Amino acid sequence: MLNKKVSDLLNEQINKELYSAYLYLDMNNYFDKRGLNGFANWYMIQAQEERDHAMLIYKYMQNNDCPITLGAIAKPDKKFKKDMDVLKAGLEHEEYVTASIHTIYEAAYKAKDFRTMQFLDWFVKEQGEEETNARDMITKMELFGADAKSLYMLNSELAARTYSAPSLVLD
Ligand code: MG
Repeated sequence: MLNKKVSDLLNEQINKELYSAYLYLDMNNYFDKRGLNGFANWYMIQAQEERDHAMLIYKYMQNNDCPITLGAIAKPDKKFKKDMDVLKAGLEHEEYVTASIHTIYEAAYKAKDFRTMQFLDWFVKEQGEEETNARDMITKMELFGADAKSLYMLNSELAARTYSAPSLVLD
């Protein structure tokens, strides 16, 4: 059993990761309707990864005999008028999740919960990568998004992204 505050924050994080999956599904839907299947693919894979994040925390809590309460997942409430709105909302959301992971890390540090700190190390690194990916998307869109031919090529590049299971495995 972990420190109560750490355990409660991890429980909340399960919900945040599942909300992230929901948000990325909404983004997938936006691009699917636009006919940009590569962008849609990219966000579908994001959604799968977020579900993985939730499941990793879920499993970690179970392995440590923490009580888990599953709450309602909020409705994605972002309005997208243009492609860049989606990309920027993605980056903003990842920055929010990074702050959330850091808050749990800080609580674990204060509680001298070294096991959770080690577990969260993977998430700290993952968030760095998520933010880099989200920023790269914005940069590419700024460079190529305005021109139809370039957008087509960017869409083709994003269509090639494939899902891979997280490198962190919990038994
Ligand atoms: Mg995540």
